[in-house]
Amino acid sequence: LKPHQKELFGQPIGLYILFLTEMWERFSYYGMRALLVLYMTSSTLGTDPRGAGLGWTSKEALALYGWYTMLVYVMSIPGGMIADKLIGQKKAVLYGAIILCLGHGVLVMTDIWAFYTGLGLVILGVGLLKPNISTMVGGLYKEGDIRRDKGFSIFYIGINLGSLLATMIVGLVVLKWGWHAGFGLAGIVMLLGLMNYLYGQKYLTQVGNFVPPKKDDPNEISYGKLYGKLFKSPTQLVFTIILLIASVWGWYTLEWGYGLLFIFLTAVVSLLMMIYKELDSQIYKDRFMVLLLSFIMVIVFWGAFEQAGGLMNLYTDTKIDRELFGWTIPTVMFQSLNAGFIILFATAVASFWAKRKLKGKEGSSLFKMALGIIIMGFGFLFMVFAAMEYEKSGTSSMIWLVLAYLFHTIGELCLSPVALSFITKLTPVKYASLMMGVYFAATGLGSKVAGIVGEAASDFGEYTIFLGILIFTVIVGTLFILILKPLKRLTHGAEDNERIMH
Ligand code: GLN
Repeated sequence: LKPHQKELFGQPIGLYILFLTEMWERFSYYGMRALLVLYMTSSTLGTDPRGAGLGWTSKEALALYGWYTMLVYVMSIPGGMIADKLIGQKKAVLYGAIILCLGHGVLVMTDIWAFYTGLGLVILGVGLLKPNISTMVGGLYKEGDIRRDKGFSIFYIGINLGSLLATMIVGLVVLKWGWHAGFGLAGIVMLLGLMNYLYGQKYLTQVGNFVPPKKDDPNEISYGKLYGKLFKSPTQLVFTIILLIASVWGWYTLEWGYGLLFIFLTAVVSLLMMIYKELDSQIYKDRFMVLLLSFIMVIVFWGAFEQAGGLMNLYTDTKIDRELFGWTIPTVMFQSLNAGFIILFATAVASFWAKRKLKGKEGSSLFKMALGIIIMGFGFLFMVFAAMEYEKSGTSSMIWLVLAYLFHTIGELCLSPVALSFITKLTPVKYASLMMGVYFAATGLGSKVAGIVGEAASDFGEYTIFLGILIFTVIVGTLFILILKPLKRLTHGAEDNERIMH
């Protein structure tokens, strides 16, 4: 048997190599994410035991946090395209990992240029690594291999194990040696991930290799041609021009960053319109439409969920009573609740849905996603209670926070893994990796929304913001449940013949 054909616990060994690489990558990502707003808002005087921060207002910090977490995921689209068209996924992951080591390494320095350079490198690194490593996991299995879903769940646990370890350890490191030691730890861990990936190459010979595009291959997407066709489709062209004008308007009235974002989104939207036109049957067109509609749920979900590293993180730092048996729990440690709950409940939630499906009850991906939004939204009820308690007594109990993260996690488990497999079910293979990139970009847009909503808390107060998120998410989730029937009709039975294989 060649190394790449060997198995461990019934799965290809390559899965464990990718699992560990992604685990260390997520360690560095979530470790750094947990520190980010706290570091930006910490005073420049160094009165904080964690050392001098940047002394920004929470509004400024949350604004940058929004841009950063958005760009990290939006870069999945170019990251995926570079792999597809130029170097293959395997090399893209390698370059991504190297760039991430550099990025986290630069953040060890205290200069402000180093701060921006480091963030920029992390954005590029994650963009190259994250979508492509996920595609490589899929590539380990032949079509129809029933181990694929399980492989993805194992991989999702790796993600959260990384996040759990990071948020448990980084907070303590920062308390002892300061912010930049925390950033440095993320860098060292990423180096481990890189070494682990290099070591594991022999188990990955069969996946992620670059296949040079063949001429006239029907499965090859030519972005140039798709955009070229835009000029032959008057309706789409007019729509694109309107979007471009709106982008330029955004550039002048908001910030240049928004201008660039809108132009990028215009490019993505026109590409999606052209793909829709190209799809050769009404069934595929309808499915594509449903998928795009489901991305609205994705944006709303992450727009609320991503308060975790931002507003809720700041709230924990300043307003939650973190004393437990005479010990003050470091703020960053509360970020591990999400990952911890995922590891505890992932299988329970999956088997709940499996049992429901066996009984013939509603269990479509769209239903799970809508329910996920509602459950996650109810998590904010506990944040509302926390804010009420704070207004009364000047502090709020950590119980609220724990309950909020518990609901957020159950919601995430209903939506996030489900959405990933939903994409692969509804998209023709040819467009699957592009749509994976678009999905991650949608989660990135959600993160930007989260930043904007979080910023508004400095004007409206946390109570109003938490209550607003609760009401909005529950309404959106309920609306999607109300239109479930027609939406499901548009999927043309994409999920009807699924068999549960465990
Ligand atoms: N928590 C998951 C991860 O880090 C999902 C993040 C997302 O889709 N935006 O991979």
